[in-house]
Amino acid sequence: MKMNASYRPAWVEIDLSRLRQNFSLFLKDKPAALGFISVVKDQAYGHGMVQIAKVALEFGAKSLAVATVDAAIELRQSGISAPVLVFGERTTEELELCVAQNLTCFVNDMAQADNLKKLAVSVGQKMPVHVEVDSGLSRYGVRWTEALPVIEYVAGLEGLVLEGVMSHFAMSDELDKTFALEQLKRFNLVLAQMAERQVRVKCRHICNTGGYLDLPQAHLDFVRIGILPLGVYPSQVCRRIPGLEPVLSVKTRIVGIRELQVGDYVGYGMRYLATEPRRIAVLPIGYGDGYPRVRNQGEVLLAGKRAPIVGGNAMDAMMVDISNIPQAKVGDEVVLQGCQGDDEIDVHEIAGLKGSVSYDILTGWRSRLPRLYLNAENVRS
Ligand SMILES: *Cc1c(COP(=O)(O)O)cnc(C)c1O
Repeated sequence: MKMNASYRPAWVEIDLSRLRQNFSLFLKDKPAALGFISVVKDQAYGHGMVQIAKVALEFGAKSLAVATVDAAIELRQSGISAPVLVFGERTTEELELCVAQNLTCFVNDMAQADNLKKLAVSVGQKMPVHVEVDSGLSRYGVRWTEALPVIEYVAGLEGLVLEGVMSHFAMSDELDKTFALEQLKRFNLVLAQMAERQVRVKCRHICNTGGYLDLPQAHLDFVRIGILPLGVYPSQVCRRIPGLEPVLSVKTRIVGIRELQVGDYVGYGMRYLATEPRRIAVLPIGYGDGYPRVRNQGEVLLAGKRAPIVGGNAMDAMMVDISNIPQAKVGDEVVLQGCQGDDEIDVHEIAGLKGSVSYDILTGWRSRLPRLYLNAENVRS
């Protein structure tokens, strides 16, 4: 990812002072004894993994979490020595890399535990591991009803240190918490069984951002926080932390202005027909950059006003109606996501254009958009 402005008149802006402000607000909101794991998977949801990780560690993240071994290695290569958890299941080849890079794996069955144990013992290392309990997502982990024997087995293996036991919610950010509470009950059952058998771990965790915000009874020892410090909420209905602001904006500049005459069409598929003279601006950004492929839908901010997208947007370009913004000219800055003047187009609004969620839009801004970091001077390297 580029650190500097590029020549391209379309870019992603990441404001690290807002990130710091969000982390401060989160720390004030959070019970003091509660630890947090900073989830920076998929390039910290498109914000730049290493940059976000460094700020998270400044603010006291106990560890980082990613979803691939490649990402974990990138963190190590950037000089980060903090614990790095790798979510999901690992192949045997990946386990070797995990040992070499001292990564924290999730070990969810006895065969996997044996594999990792052999690798660890062969290099004389003790590998920290967490066991994932599947309490209802039916994705990774050992089913809650079968978890105790696996946990006890892992705890007893030389070469491994059972550091944590975790689970993950299927639905924590909607108003209906019935299933989340059921999952918590299942997970608590496993924790009670462990206590009975005197199996102790330092890190018990089940909450993502939704769980952190809305289910304080589920906080346990650690919460795994990804989207919150980015200033974006997992849903429209979860609890708000006043002052939290989005870190990422997407901007471009007008590269052309056209006068439409009655009967002119705009864009592929002839989806827009001018029934009166209109003025449109051409923006050099499209669905190839991660904006949803829309037709006559969606708006951008220009001169502090909203300009609607006309026609179907293309891979590399889109057209917006500027008939009501006569002062618009080539070179003017246009906001696709973020604030301008008193108005804001937030990530949920863009997600609505494709019936998706904020996470999808954030991670969808493609790498060909240069990343411009604002207020980056304080980042420790
Ligand atoms: C992505 C992820 C998180 C973080 O979720 P947010 O809603 O972004 O806080 C936590 N735990 C697991 C297992 C995840 O995959």
